[in-house]
Amino acid sequence: MKAISLRVDVDTLEGSLTGIPTLIRLLEKHRMRASFYFSFGPDNSGKAIRRIFRKGFLDKMRRTNPGKLYGFKTMMYGTLLPAPIIWKRAAAEMKLAAAAGHEVGIHAWDHVQYHDLLDRKSRTWLEAWYQDAHKAYADIFGHPAKGAVSPAWRSNDATLEIQDRYGLDYAGDCRGFEAFYPIVNGKTLRTLQVPTTLPTLDELLGLDGRTADDVNREVWNLVREDALNVYALHTEVEGGALHDTFDTFLGGLNDRGVVARTHAEWVPELKAANPPAKAMGRREIEGRAGWVSWEG
Ligand SMILES: [Zn+2]
Repeated sequence: MKAISLRVDVDTLEGSLTGIPTLIRLLEKHRMRASFYFSFGPDNSGKAIRRIFRKGFLDKMRRTNPGKLYGFKTMMYGTLLPAPIIWKRAAAEMKLAAAAGHEVGIHAWDHVQYHDLLDRKSRTWLEAWYQDAHKAYADIFGHPAKGAVSPAWRSNDATLEIQDRYGLDYAGDCRGFEAFYPIVNGKTLRTLQVPTTLPTLDELLGLDGRTADDVNREVWNLVREDALNVYALHTEVEGGALHDTFDTFLGGLNDRGVVARTHAEWVPELKAANPPAKAMGRREIEGRAGWVSWEG
């Protein structure tokens, strides 16, 4: 059997307000459920968008869909416009995802600062970052979060240790190929890591001339039989300018008999299979700027 978990990273206010409803509609059309992970705190996108995505990808977006990837306001948040607190404006959209039967979890408090400055942040700053994100989640959904996935698949020893105290069922803080328990400073943590196993649309589109159809075909072919398959997407991309490409992607999964399961649905089975313990490393991956955490 082939199964896939769709991990939706929600990075911005705009992605929350418009991308969440778009993705809910597409997932409903294809009768699939996904796992949504929200950014709750300040939207400082204006400071970072040009760095989050590789230059080749932004150029490609400009050619195919000028100015549509992010709206003008998003590009200015945290620079000329003050950074809005996302959950104060988009709690309704977040609840909509849960009400539609999707899994919901934590992606970030301040996505941009974590992504850009992680290794320079103090333990106190990181502790507050986690606390603020978990509190916002609990305020919105009325119960503690059970799953979290970090911005840009980045983590370090401090984030893994801090997060481990929250008693999550799992976290997704790296790229890799199988579920595992991370070893940090000689100690095996209790929070299962569920890595993202497949390349993303924003990494592959335009790379060596790949079209959207090329990317969809490539990813369909990478889905493994009887193994963990995690595909990550962004409300700002697949729930925005590239929603048609994602629509085709979901249709292709159904045509190929690939079953969609949320992370939460998959985790009990992953845990029952007695996952290994491994230290995490870092590496660069094709099509993405900077490093990502990597399993073992
Ligand atoms: Zn993100």
